[in-house]
Amino acid sequence: MPPKASPSSTLDFRSKKRLTRRLTNHLRERFGVPSREARAGILDALIETLLSQSTTDHNRDLAFGGLKRRFPAWEEAAAARPAGIAAAIRQGGLANQKAARISSFLRWLKREREELSLEFLHDAPDAEAVALLTRHKGIGVKTAYVTLMKASSRDLFPVDVHIHRIARRLGLIGPRVTPEKAHGELGPLVPPGRAHELHMNLLAFGRTVCTARAPRCGECILRRGCAFYRSLPPAPKAGG
Ligand code: SF4
Repeated sequence: MPPKASPSSTLDFRSKKRLTRRLTNHLRERFGVPSREARAGILDALIETLLSQSTTDHNRDLAFGGLKRRFPAWEEAAAARPAGIAAAIRQGGLANQKAARISSFLRWLKREREELSLEFLHDAPDAEAVALLTRHKGIGVKTAYVTLMKASSRDLFPVDVHIHRIARRLGLIGPRVTPEKAHGELGPLVPPGRAHELHMNLLAFGRTVCTARAPRCGECILRRGCAFYRSLPPAPKAGG
């Protein structure tokens, strides 16, 4: 069973900023500075991120590889029927839904820009680039942030389900803040220039220490500042 304690957030903004800096520094000591993958085109990164929804990295890669084999140029995918795209990405799960979204986006881009490229977004301010992507069905804030963080090297902090869980436990966001809303609350807390580092290291931290079902608080250096840990009942005394 996942832990039951439910911390509430009582920290003010400055305290949250301090805690986030401490967290960022601690995770750097523990996991290092993650390297950035060779930069893909923004459109490739977007399609890859769409394919990553509700599946593993392995299955996402299989689906992306299948798509590129079947349609080596995005022009070909845009001209194909969604069923053809679905057949190519079957191994990634939710193939029909993802194919409809990819097809719809590619066709919109072709109509709007006449070429299947999103490289023009490098010149757009963050808010404008995010708004352009998120107006499309199936592209939420997280998908837009991941795409732009990876392919445009932007200092944006994507919040997935694991990062949302850790931020709630630490008291950086309140219990009712959704992952979508958490982007606006957590972004300003992240030390400038370190969003990619913190995002990647938090994923590693969530896999190894602050896990969903059984967080290893006893070995966590952050426990004194953690709202979740402080809300746990005291451990029974030995022999008592
Ligand atoms: S003390 Fe426990 S709940 Fe808090 S961050 Fe560490 S592992 Fe997660």
